[in-house]
Amino acid sequence: MEITSSMNYKSKQDFLDNVHSKFSNEKEFLQAVEEVIGSIWDTVQQSQDYLDGNILDRIITPERVIIFRVPWLDDNGRVHVNLGYRIQFNSAIGPYKGGLRFHPKVNLGVLKFLAFEQIFKNSLTGLNLGGGKGGSDFDPKGKSDNEIMKFCQSFMTELSRHIGHNTDVPAGDIGVGGREIGFMFGQYKRIKNEFTGVLTGKKTDWGGSLIRPEATGYGTVYFVEEMLKTRNESISGKVATISGSGNVAQFACEKLIQLGAKPVTLSDSSGYIYDPEGITSEKLEFVKKLKENSSARISEYAKKYNVDFIEGKTPWEVKCDIALPCATQNELNEDDAKALTENGCFVVAEGANMPSTTEAVEHFIKEKILFGPGKAANAGGVAVSGIEMSQNSTRMHLSSEEVDNLLKGIMTRIHTTCVQYGDKGDFINYVDGANIGGFVRVADSMIDQGIV
Ligand code: NDP
Repeated sequence: MEITSSMNYKSKQDFLDNVHSKFSNEKEFLQAVEEVIGSIWDTVQQSQDYLDGNILDRIITPERVIIFRVPWLDDNGRVHVNLGYRIQFNSAIGPYKGGLRFHPKVNLGVLKFLAFEQIFKNSLTGLNLGGGKGGSDFDPKGKSDNEIMKFCQSFMTELSRHIGHNTDVPAGDIGVGGREIGFMFGQYKRIKNEFTGVLTGKKTDWGGSLIRPEATGYGTVYFVEEMLKTRNESISGKVATISGSGNVAQFACEKLIQLGAKPVTLSDSSGYIYDPEGITSEKLEFVKKLKENSSARISEYAKKYNVDFIEGKTPWEVKCDIALPCATQNELNEDDAKALTENGCFVVAEGANMPSTTEAVEHFIKEKILFGPGKAANAGGVAVSGIEMSQNSTRMHLSSEEVDNLLKGIMTRIHTTCVQYGDKGDFINYVDGANIGGFVRVADSMIDQGIV
């Protein structure tokens, strides 16, 4: 397929129309591309190097997309087949890096959006990490440990041909936690006969980093702290709503409690709990134990602590100062955004990837609230994955305090980059800041490395 130089695009719309016609089935990918292009268009038009290098067409095209069959046997001896994917999107600034997602809604468009976002997020961390993402439409809910192991081993048998500690280093994401990383690491080691940091999110006994499980949630709250400082405010005493009850939601909740805020909601795909007295450390421990079983429902919290469970809804109708969407993409729409701001919410930070729809983001920006997009606010997870890779390469271990301090430093630097590129005088547009700040480093590196 011939690609036209971006110099020849008459306008941003002309470019986007071309992207739409090529990837019309990949709606989440199109949404992510539109958002990034909206921010970086002017930056590209002002650089002859970017125009001559046709950087726009190159940056939206993955270096490699791998799709494969994953056959596995269930406990009754029946044969199942799922699709496995790895998107190796951009390696201009380092080996591909990004999580693996196991969820029935996984498809090419979802993984391409996640891998595309990952390019800019990883760039913002300041570390040498390229952008990638992968996973499968396998549903871990209701499966036995044995079935999960068999699936992970089959998935890794093929994936192992394409990854390596200097090539592509996957991590966890939705449906992939310490247990799954363990099964996949074991299979990789068995096939390759080498013990390397090929995956991050490992348990600490066999090469994992302290603070990696906490990193995304903690980092999101550190980013909120930085945003609040620009308005001479702090987290202490603020009421917060959180969606999700998995890895990111749990540790965002934990850090909010530690810093004196009052988190009042958690959710899952069945609905949300509202605890007006606030989720305490003790109640959060109950959630962590509960959610060790991926089929367990957050409604158990409502029964145990005698609070409301609102079935089939998201928590954005609850009055709060801070909202942290930490579940999944497009879980916060324009009506939700309006409900939040009408109820006085003035800080939204995305623990999840692209949880806010395009219209919701536009509303937050119009209202000039503090809105931290995922590629900035949730970059703490991949940042500590990068720190895990460094520890694996040097075979040295850092203490929790050392990793936490590095994480805080990285989140502060990401905030500074967002302000540098997104300061509009009377407010900071963190969407533009994150997109432009992440893009420039990758684009300059691509230009330096020639047409590859
Ligand atoms: P988990 O699998 O640990 O938890 C996911 C949570 O989101 C669960 O509560 C799940 O509920 C809920 N959820 C998933 N799909 C839906 C849906 N379609 N509708 C409503 N709720 C849903 O995943 P993580 O916490 O790791 O990831 C959450 C988000 O954070 C994702 O967007 C991920 O990409 C992003 N992220 C994660 C990072 C990490 O380090 N883990 C790093 C950066 C971003 P249920 O149990 O009912 O499915």
